[in-house]
Amino acid sequence: MSFQNPVFIPGPTNIPEAIRKACDMPTLDHRSPAFARMFTPAVAGVKRVLKMEAGEIIILPSTGTGGWEAAVSNTLSPGDTVLAARFGMFSHRWIDLCQRHGLNVQIIETPWGQGAPLGAIEAALRADTGHAIKAVLATHNETATGVKSDVAGIRRAMDVAGHPALFMVDGVSSIGSMPFEFTRWGVDIAVAGSQKGFMLPAGLAILGISPKAIAAMEGATLPRAFFDFREMLTAYARGGYPYTPTVGLIAGLARSIEMLEDEGLENVYARHTRLAEGVRRAVAAWGMAPYAATPDLYSDTVTAVRVPEGCNGTDLVTLAASKYGVAFGVGLGEVAGKVFRIGHLGMLTDVMVLAGLATAEMCMADLGWPVRLGRGVAAAQDFYRGSAPAMALAAE
Ligand SMILES: *Cc1c(COP(=O)(O)O)cnc(C)c1O
Repeated sequence: MSFQNPVFIPGPTNIPEAIRKACDMPTLDHRSPAFARMFTPAVAGVKRVLKMEAGEIIILPSTGTGGWEAAVSNTLSPGDTVLAARFGMFSHRWIDLCQRHGLNVQIIETPWGQGAPLGAIEAALRADTGHAIKAVLATHNETATGVKSDVAGIRRAMDVAGHPALFMVDGVSSIGSMPFEFTRWGVDIAVAGSQKGFMLPAGLAILGISPKAIAAMEGATLPRAFFDFREMLTAYARGGYPYTPTVGLIAGLARSIEMLEDEGLENVYARHTRLAEGVRRAVAAWGMAPYAATPDLYSDTVTAVRVPEGCNGTDLVTLAASKYGVAFGVGLGEVAGKVFRIGHLGMLTDVMVLAGLATAEMCMADLGWPVRLGRGVAAAQDFYRGSAPAMALAAE
């Protein structure tokens, strides 16, 4: 695998040079004021990225999966019911994690390629007159199928049903790349990871927790130790950690937020929409389609490309890696072989995406797929030429 090529997997994403440098630092005593000086702005920055007014940020040495575990183990008790729709590998894995924690998951089985079914969620909540459901789980961006769900719509369904459950959202592959509104959407726990929109190496689970989630910690009886929010918040109040933090990654996180805010969060989101649209134009020109069922579900961070009958998406991914040193994502679970995935999030430009599309085309030609070289690239080029914002030239 060549380290000169960008990756086109939906995480971990390409790491900007400035972030790599920020992570590379000498040992720092995490009980010293120097750590607090670094940590406090990172926490404040995450709050701004989440658009969070009230609540706390928890940054754990872990990954997104650990964030799922921390969310449920801090707020729920064995036997509690949670409501979740299953429509892809990531929504499935969070459900599986809950079940292994002894939670009773009320699953709304939903075809892969669809998003969270608002009507069925509202109906399930309305039917739960005794309020047995303690939490509603949502996967904002299902990375396996390239489907985004309407998080604000789920909140509305909860409000219309008058249901008091906690609202937990997996934003691992959306936060920092797609609009996210913690407070406005009434989210109680948001889960992110360092290696996707934040453009860092893997190693941090980043969570936002609402005052309601904080209140729920007290009565919750699921075992938790390493991930105990109470100990984290006590230590934070003193500017520190209950154990040794991943100092370099936290320095990188502060730098990541600076980069996102220098570009402007709205511009970051618009760039992701543009890049994604160029990819979708290419996919259409190949005579293929995103796995997401309808355009309103199209993710701006990852496209799962449905491959033609008789073709195997995994062959393309294997060939791209072995022949061209370029990484794409394979289809997972139910869509293994039926799709390959193009990650288009984090540090990416039009020019980088065009390189990825060109590589995918070379692989298709090599594999004898019915695609003419240049078709998809040209469609993306046309779109990018017509929609490019003027580059701000650096003064230096
Ligand atoms: C990547 C991802 C995860 C898992 O995160 P890890 O950091 O690999 O543990 C969870 N949910 C979604 C939507 C993801 O894209």
